[in-house]
Amino acid sequence: MKTAPRLLQNVKGSIPPADFYRAELPTMPPPRGGGWREGGLCPFHNDNHAGSFRVNLETGGFKCFACGAKGADVIAFIQLRDGLSFPEALRQLSDDWGV
Ligand SMILES: [Zn+2]
Repeated sequence: MKTAPRLLQNVKGSIPPADFYRAELPTMPPPRGGGWREGGLCPFHNDNHAGSFRVNLETGGFKCFACGAKGADVIAFIQLRDGLSFPEALRQLSDDWGV
């Protein structure tokens, strides 16, 4: 499957990481400001103690200090969480967010 550059641009440009993580991380505390924030419970391991998972609300980056899951943007988040290839993750984001 070939990745259309326009699809990548649309997804990257149209989904604010802050909105994305508010929707995807129900346990994330209400963020104040951008940059790296507490992300609530980590979706990548069986987390029952919030505090290890951080998200960057400007870049979409994420990092868990407990299990080591990390990525640079919301596409990487979807790839890792749902076990998708890069083009598949792009398509899913595009469908889910109507971009
Ligand atoms: Zn984790």
